[in-house]
Amino acid sequence: MTPISEITALTLKTNILIVGGAYAGLAAINQFRKRLDSNFSDSNDKKISLTLVEPRAGFLNILGIPKCIVNPEFARNQYITFERFPYLQFDKVYSIDKKMQQQLQEERTKPQPFELDFIHGKINYLDEKSATFTLTGGKEKSKIDFDYVILASGRSRQWPSTPNAFNIEYFMKEMNDTHKKISESNTISIIGAGAVGIELAGEIKAEFPEKSVNLIHPHPSFPPEPLSEEFQDKVKKGLEDAGVNLLLNSRIDREFGNGNLQTTDGEFIESDLNYWCTSHKNNIDFLSEEICSFLTAKKDLAVNEYLQVADTDIVLPNVFATGDLVDLDVIKSAGWALHMGPIAADNIINLIMGEEPNSKLPDVSLWEKNIALAVGNGEIISGNGNTVEINNSDYVEIYKDYGLNRCLEMLEAELRE
Ligand SMILES: Cc1cc2nc3c(=O)[nH]c(=O)nc-3n(C[C@H](O)[C@H](O)[C@H](O)COP(=O)(O)OP(=O)(O)OC[C@H]3O[C@@H](n4cnc5c(N)ncnc54)[C@H](O)[C@@H]3O)c2cc1C
Repeated sequence: MTPISEITALTLKTNILIVGGAYAGLAAINQFRKRLDSNFSDSNDKKISLTLVEPRAGFLNILGIPKCIVNPEFARNQYITFERFPYLQFDKVYSIDKKMQQQLQEERTKPQPFELDFIHGKINYLDEKSATFTLTGGKEKSKIDFDYVILASGRSRQWPSTPNAFNIEYFMKEMNDTHKKISESNTISIIGAGAVGIELAGEIKAEFPEKSVNLIHPHPSFPPEPLSEEFQDKVKKGLEDAGVNLLLNSRIDREFGNGNLQTTDGEFIESDLNYWCTSHKNNIDFLSEEICSFLTAKKDLAVNEYLQVADTDIVLPNVFATGDLVDLDVIKSAGWALHMGPIAADNIINLIMGEEPNSKLPDVSLWEKNIALAVGNGEIISGNGNTVEINNSDYVEIYKDYGLNRCLEMLEAELRE
């Protein structure tokens, strides 16, 4: 890596800034690629520029993390470096990692009617016109002005549910480390029986049946998603059949240095290794005060049907929010994020062409809430409204690689070797 002192602050300009390069962000880029190719290819206008800012140098299928932490071989295929995406040929790459910069910055095989740049870094401030960012591994702040922005920065959870993974080597180190730690522990406790905690407990027990795996939750029932009691019962039974110890109505108050835990009732739980799955946080710390005024009590961004950040009185016409950040009455999912990216992209293209936005979110009140969970006994339990199924064939297929191929299909990405 180049020493930080050699990196000078940059001042850049782009037409469209995309903050976050996972499900929503990449789906938006794919839509821009298709629309800009067909709408602008014969035009002599100045090229439209898109800039992606993402601290990772690739797409991490976060859905697969429960299996990645126990199976490094599986993990290797869940992180796809950007150069393997056929349409992520970047014109300019800003990174401290010069080797990675060379790999990602490619001579175009055919001219394209837009410029696509990549900033391997993180936004640390953003208002309606400009943002500041820091390159991954760097300290210096640089600035970028934009006409439109798509916020696709999603959520973070406690490690390892959200790994750092700024490149594939580091991701593999993180996953090898978790695997080693689990192998060396007799009792592993997962604290929090939300969807992520359930799958972590299930996968650890499935991979290491000889270990004692606790799933600790402060309430009598789980997961908390608004689904039927039948769904909750089947998830509970699946975990019990897998041999996971369910410690319900237990709120952890203290974690000791040796891993042991103490509940708020004073009860001790012997444990060697603990993974906390108790909270998540939208990645919104960088938003200006003005944009923050559109946050709901749950810290989601209020949007209109075109995904422009908006409340009942004011619309920020050039600021779009997508994916987990959006205030929408759904169970947040990769599927919704993949659906929202193209809506935001379509509406930005309309605005650039002097038209009104016309790509809309569906009426979500007409959609059944749905979720599927792998519970560790070989069962995938899915809930779709009031319909609960075990091993629905579609979900069984999807779970073979934790949805990776389905996501790549939706991103229309036939990977390069
Ligand atoms: C362990 C786990 C299992 C899950 N399982 C499922 C499942 O089975 N099915 C399902 O549908 N959903 C599942 N989910 C939820 C699903 O992952 C999310 O709904 C989905 O990732 C949302 O996509 P997104 O693009 O909005 O955000 P994210 O996937 O969170 O991506 C946000 C991106 O923005 C980047 N970013 C963050 N901050 C900044 C910044 N300041 N500047 C620039 N970039 C930034 C991040 O690095 C990241 O790449 C799971 C989540 C977890 C954690």
